[in-house]
Amino acid sequence: MAKYQLSSATEKYLSDVRPMFLGGAWKKGSAGETIDCVSPIDGEVFAKVASASKEDALSAISAARESFDGGVWKSKTPAARAKILWRLADLIEKHTDTLAELEVLDGGKLHSAAKNGEVPMAAESFRYYAGWITKLEGKTTTISSAGGAPFHCYTEHEPVGVAGMILPWNGPLVMAAWKLAPALAAGCSCVVKPAELTCLSTLFLGELMQEAGIPDGVVNIVTGSGRVVGAAIAESPLVDKLSFTGSTHTGKSLLDAAKGNLKKLTLELGGKSPAIVLDDCDIDKTVAGVAAGIFSGAGQVCVAGSRAYVARSIYPAFLEKLKQHVLGIKVGEGFDPDSQMGPLISETQLSSVLNFVRGAVKEGAVVATGGERLRRDGYYMTPAVIVDADDSMQICREEVFGPVLVVQPFDDLEEVIRRANDSEYGLAASVWTENVGKAHGVIKQLQAGITWVNCHGLPDMAMPFGGFKQSGWGREAGLEGLMQYCETRSTLVNLG
Ligand code: ADP
Repeated sequence: MAKYQLSSATEKYLSDVRPMFLGGAWKKGSAGETIDCVSPIDGEVFAKVASASKEDALSAISAARESFDGGVWKSKTPAARAKILWRLADLIEKHTDTLAELEVLDGGKLHSAAKNGEVPMAAESFRYYAGWITKLEGKTTTISSAGGAPFHCYTEHEPVGVAGMILPWNGPLVMAAWKLAPALAAGCSCVVKPAELTCLSTLFLGELMQEAGIPDGVVNIVTGSGRVVGAAIAESPLVDKLSFTGSTHTGKSLLDAAKGNLKKLTLELGGKSPAIVLDDCDIDKTVAGVAAGIFSGAGQVCVAGSRAYVARSIYPAFLEKLKQHVLGIKVGEGFDPDSQMGPLISETQLSSVLNFVRGAVKEGAVVATGGERLRRDGYYMTPAVIVDADDSMQICREEVFGPVLVVQPFDDLEEVIRRANDSEYGLAASVWTENVGKAHGVIKQLQAGITWVNCHGLPDMAMPFGGFKQSGWGREAGLEGLMQYCETRSTLVNLG
């Protein structure tokens, strides 16, 4: 990629076909096939990674199983495991330049966001869970059923076993870290399948894991298709747990695959998250915040606030300011420091998003601004604001996963809460107001797993992340995220 100023480490990393990581060895893949890494920046192939066959996936699963059953990781002392995760976090920071450049080239991220947001968050994921390892304690409990006889009852947390992880393309590094960090903290062994479109930062993370001292076979990274590699992980009886982030459609299809051995499932799926703007909000801050809530990451974010409901009394003023704000968003490639919104991930994704915009217009909605493809290489479009929509329209009900915001007025709180909740999804929501009592009153009635007041989309490792309704099962981040990778054993000792 001579046209971008990459660090020499990144140039070197991209000069070879990147192998996958099986049982502690870097391998090309038994069928000798490769996947082209196409950059959303310009649509050009800039690297290649090995493409796994089903046999490769099965050998990764066996390696994880062997390492788990052999106890090379789970039997280390908590302090020893914590030290390795801390070392890994330090290595992630040390290699910030390469990881950030890979996220820009492969995932279409803005360089500033990758460097100052995604890479530090990946490092923080491992530090956060490194901290938990030495504090993952069971409880002693007092039982009643023995009528006061001398019994001692206690619980312990055990790693669930081999954890399969199927990653999405919209946050490759962070999603890998969000799953690997709690799984490793719990003592699991792992098989990771990155999305076909964005394998590179996960593979690079694998190299850092090896350098940090994670034993061979504990983390395996298999690059290949969802249909072959993802399905093999989902249906394998040797995998005890599956953590998936992606579309609700694919998430549902995993239920059948996982039922053979009743794998434990964590599913982080789609969303159609509302931003509720009350009449007493700070309009300028809210305009900027609501826009950031949908247009960051070009709207390819599961918690994107894609439906804005604005109090009718401020609707005209809000809309006018929003249009001006959105018109000012500079769309461009992530290495350009002036860019504020990058490309969509692929031609397919761009066409899908543009089709949603066209569909909205066909159904009678109006494009207030944006929604057009840019005439340049790569997959760019202008951020879109849609008005005059109706809650029944596809644009208000389905996840677009692109930079498209529908703005609608509302008249009273009861109405807006009902409309906000009228969705099969229940991932996230935000409320914008200067009245703290009203904010909490509204939040309490929202069917959403993550809610924000006067901000939208900010994640934190200490904040459990996941959805109500068809947005998924389970939570990532926080102690709840760690418990997804643990089983609890209760023991009752008769002291009599
Ligand atoms: P998208 O359609 O935007 O790629 P998906 O939810 O289909 O979103 O993809 C998320 C992840 O799921 C990717 O890693 C993909 O390879 C994987 N995947 C897709 N189909 C399957 C499947 N049938 N079984 C397991 N994993 C799958």
